[in-house]
Amino acid sequence: MGENLRFAARFNEIEMFRYCEQCGRCSSACPITGINEFNIRRLIRHVELDLIDEIAASPMPWFCAACGRCEDACPNGIKILDITRTLRAVGPRDLVPEQPLCVQACPAGIDIPGYLRFISHDKMDEACKLIIEKAPFPGILGRVCTHPCETACKRGEVNASISICAAKRYAADNAGDLSAWMSDTAEDSGHKVAVIGAGPAGLTAAFYLRKKGHQVTIFEARPKTGGMMRYGIPFYRLPEEVLEKEIDLVLSSGIEVKTNQKLGVDYEIEQLKNDGFEAVFVAVGAQLSRRIELPGSDLEDVCWGVEFLAAVAEGGDVSVKDKVVVIGGGNVAVDVALTALRLGAKKVALACLESLEEMPANPWEIEQAREEGVELLVSWGPDKIMGNDGKVSGLELVRCTSVFDDQGNFCPFFDENKKTVEADQVILAIGQASETAFCKDFCFLDDEGSLSVESGLIAIDKDTQQTEMKGVFAGGDAANGPATVIEAIATGRRGAISIDQYLGGNGVVEFGIRPPAHRGLRLRPGGNAECGLRPVGAIGAYAPEGSEGSGKSECGKRNAECGSEGSGNSEVGSRSVEGGNGKSEFGSGTRRRPIGRDYAVAKDAEVGINECGNGYDGERESGFAELKRIEVQSLPLSERRGGFSEVESCFSDEQAKQETHRCLQCDLEICLAKEAGFGQKES
Ligand SMILES: Cc1cc2nc3c(=O)[nH]c(=O)nc-3n(C[C@H](O)[C@H](O)[C@H](O)COP(=O)(O)OP(=O)(O)OC[C@H]3O[C@@H](n4cnc5c(N)ncnc54)[C@H](O)[C@@H]3O)c2cc1C
Ligand code: SF4
Ligand code: SF4
Ligand code: SF4
Repeated sequence: MGENLRFAARFNEIEMFRYCEQCGRCSSACPITGINEFNIRRLIRHVELDLIDEIAASPMPWFCAACGRCEDACPNGIKILDITRTLRAVGPRDLVPEQPLCVQACPAGIDIPGYLRFISHDKMDEACKLIIEKAPFPGILGRVCTHPCETACKRGEVNASISICAAKRYAADNAGDLSAWMSDTAEDSGHKVAVIGAGPAGLTAAFYLRKKGHQVTIFEARPKTGGMMRYGIPFYRLPEEVLEKEIDLVLSSGIEVKTNQKLGVDYEIEQLKNDGFEAVFVAVGAQLSRRIELPGSDLEDVCWGVEFLAAVAEGGDVSVKDKVVVIGGGNVAVDVALTALRLGAKKVALACLESLEEMPANPWEIEQAREEGVELLVSWGPDKIMGNDGKVSGLELVRCTSVFDDQGNFCPFFDENKKTVEADQVILAIGQASETAFCKDFCFLDDEGSLSVESGLIAIDKDTQQTEMKGVFAGGDAANGPATVIEAIATGRRGAISIDQYLGGNGVVEFGIRPPAHRGLRLRPGGNAECGLRPVGAIGAYAPEGSEGSGKSECGKRNAECGSEGSGNSEVGSRSVEGGNGKSEFGSGTRRRPIGRDYAVAKDAEVGINECGNGYDGERESGFAELKRIEVQSLPLSERRGGFSEVESCFSDEQAKQETHRCLQCDLEICLAKEAGFGQKES
């Protein structure tokens, strides 16, 4: 029998589905019943009726989150997950997802389930290395990432998504010294690359280029590195020492940094090329506040959000007035409002065009603002700033009835309603813009091309980050528009790959870190579990006859009893199953029906070892689906004002273990399906 038939064989092994009474308790318990018309009882019915090909060819088996709640509910102890997994395995290849949803949603494609498993194995260095393979700032991301992965996380369908971001922070805060590993680079390639801008995009590009053995110099306009991670994101969310530690670690790979070096002022790209830099990565971000014409904006005590936050980060003497109104509904506006409170403002209000639901700020940022006492004036736009003796005395607002047109374009409408709010300081935080003046000054020879700007952004090929100028690449906010740290990082890595290829390299940026098996489960070839959750042979199924050592488990859970030995013998509730030859003994009253289709029986001694090299069997202990998401603790409100202490704390060891254990291991679920050979049945 071919390797690829091992899973198809499982229908002969998992014959318990024949004892389904169609009572529907599984479907009632299942958290996703009804979503996409999913119904696990109906799916089992298809198998019973020998409509296996039809149901396996549909996406239905992939809708299952593999949480195990249905198995807890089934009065007949049917191993329902074995059925869905087998259907996945025999279904067409194009239905098998490439990546878990969380990985797909992460702009940098970090191996999330992999690092969660490292954490659950107490291997923080490895967890960080796995993260750094895709994004070199685990501690920063663990604090400020907008975590689109959590929004996509499959576990969210079961009860609540995994705290992916907080787990990343835990790994970073508990890792050892990685400097030797970080500075382990490929042999000198002999190529020189210049990076313009030391924000996350520039630092990331520099790091991966350095890892590939290129000599890298970063030219940064400001006195310090970090970009908006330092000059935008306030220290109460991202402490300076965390920022500096991670930047130092990246630079320790052997990257040269030249600060106070502004492109277009202190040098030009042409000069860099003349100095021997064969490629340039431009990552100058979006440093400016977007401005609007607003009567009264020239009054004293009117300022702009990005500049205000940068001044605070620089440690300058930034004073705030008692009554501050911030205009804007995004994350920057919320940061400004909370910073103003910390600097001593007595009353802070935030006015924005959008309704609460439409506000572009992240929901958790809005929640924090409310918690800290920021008054939200939603669906109000600024009409004019009122003044007295050249100073701000108030703000006139006009009611905004809608912000977007039918096509979703920004197109605000206002009615006649107006109101005035008291204020003695107004800070406008309505967006950012890139300073791309340096682009237009260049007119290179025809064969070099030129940097062009489209809608205020450096024009690039989104797949390669290549600009229209030969050898010049660009990324981050300057090329993509104001976005996030992780998006900037993703473009930096993509840029490094393209530059490496441009310089004749293979563009492969991999460090060879491979995640471990599921926590607490290690299988030896033949399916022995050292600490298995059930007797194992085939993954998640009963051991096939003759498979070496199959069925041994030291600590079985749920229905399986510990220590039952022998080839596939196990205790399943009151029912004993002899694996491998299709013989099963069930309690009285259960039915046996022939399956009608003869899927081959697995006899492979390697069963239990999937292509990831792990012994994952996907067993869910009873109550696994109910495990609650663990949230990090926040600093008490009384301790937040008057300082910039970090608001969010780190998981404890126990919390990190519990939370990472909640992961459904979607990557290994994909492995299980891929291993089986995609529907090739023995003829
Ligand atoms: C207030 C604020 C809060 C934010 N909060 C979050 C958050 O919580 N989570 C999140 O994911 N994202 C957040 N962001 C967005 C995130 O910080 C940016 O998307 C990200 O930093 C962009 O990275 P970048 O490398 O493209 O640009 P930047 O970080 O802006 O870095 C660009 C660098 O280039 C330098 N530079 C500029 N012009 C030149 C020049 N001509 N020559 C040389 N150097 C130059 C700049 O000084 C800077 O160091 C926030 C942004 C702001 C403003
Ligand atoms: S699998 Fe179990 S719970 Fe579901 S319908 Fe069949 S007998 Fe009932
Ligand atoms: S494993 Fe979870 S999601 Fe899948 S069918 Fe059972 S209850 Fe539903
Ligand atoms: S359950 Fe785990 S692997 Fe699945 S999407 Fe969520 S974090 Fe990713």
